[in-house]
Amino acid sequence: LSQLFRPLDLLGMVYRTIRQGVLDMGAMFDLIDTRSEVTDAPGAPPLRVAAGHVRFEDLRFGYEPGQPILKGISLDVAAGQTLAVVGPSGAGKSTLARLMYRFYDPDGGRITIDGQDIAEVTQGSLRAAIGIVPQDTVLFNDTIGYNIAYGREGASEAEIEAAARGAAIAGFIERQPDGYATRVGERGLKLSGGEKQRVAIARTLLKDPPILILDEATSALDSRTEADILETLRGVEQGRTTIVIAHRLSTIVHADQIVVLEGGRVAERGTHAELLRRGGLYAEMWNRQAAEREEGEALAAE
Ligand code: ATP
Repeated sequence: LSQLFRPLDLLGMVYRTIRQGVLDMGAMFDLIDTRSEVTDAPGAPPLRVAAGHVRFEDLRFGYEPGQPILKGISLDVAAGQTLAVVGPSGAGKSTLARLMYRFYDPDGGRITIDGQDIAEVTQGSLRAAIGIVPQDTVLFNDTIGYNIAYGREGASEAEIEAAARGAAIAGFIERQPDGYATRVGERGLKLSGGEKQRVAIARTLLKDPPILILDEATSALDSRTEADILETLRGVEQGRTTIVIAHRLSTIVHADQIVVLEGGRVAERGTHAELLRRGGLYAEMWNRQAAEREEGEALAAE
């Protein structure tokens, strides 16, 4: 019988998720695969973010019983600092982000924000405190202005334009015949990967959260676009606690702390310079990616 009810549960969850305004997280978090819906504890208070100090304490998690993905992860991100999480494919990087946004509860350990266990506060308040720039941004078949405004209900035109400027997409929008009223999507303007990412950045600026999760796209943008977007993101990161899930190490050289996940554990941690000196997994990944970059540049120059 429970089989019968599952699709209904799922529909309910998707509906609530849309209502909460997190539909575009679906791409990142694979909603359909959600094992169980987390619920607010009775009488849960809202999260109160003072500075944005994030801690992962001996975090353990698996999607399936007996198949642990995270096997005791402890991380400490001081308020306003940037932590980059790297590691081989399947190491559990995105899983960390999903737990942080509380799409799942951990099997052991906890995540705290300014000392409050995120499992003990309301989900609404948690998600309001966290901005996500996902790998793939889903755009609505609506105007570009609407797509940005979606970051915060009730934003004024001036605020939307300020966010677009902050995301360095205002010029592009103003060049369109209908400006912010230009329709995007299937029958409208098609945006490139980089432009879509800028819409996501503008949404996040509008939301203005104290904590930021950046999930870097696996497929590389061209290097010029990538450099431009990185520069924009550096600005957005200012004054926010940031967790970057990174695939390309060249994008996280500046991070205050880099953590290498492997086999569900923290294999290495340190700054870029420290990890290079260490000559371990990070250094190996760095050298490999540097060689690939050079190869790519040589090909491009031909
Ligand atoms: P990548 O760099 O490829 O994005 P990642 O480090 O982000 O990888 P995760 O997406 O966190 O890896 O996945 C970690 C492991 O968990 C993988 O082995 C993956 O197959 C498994 N996994 C991810 N999502 C689910 C799910 N919904 N149900 C079951 N297993 C899952």
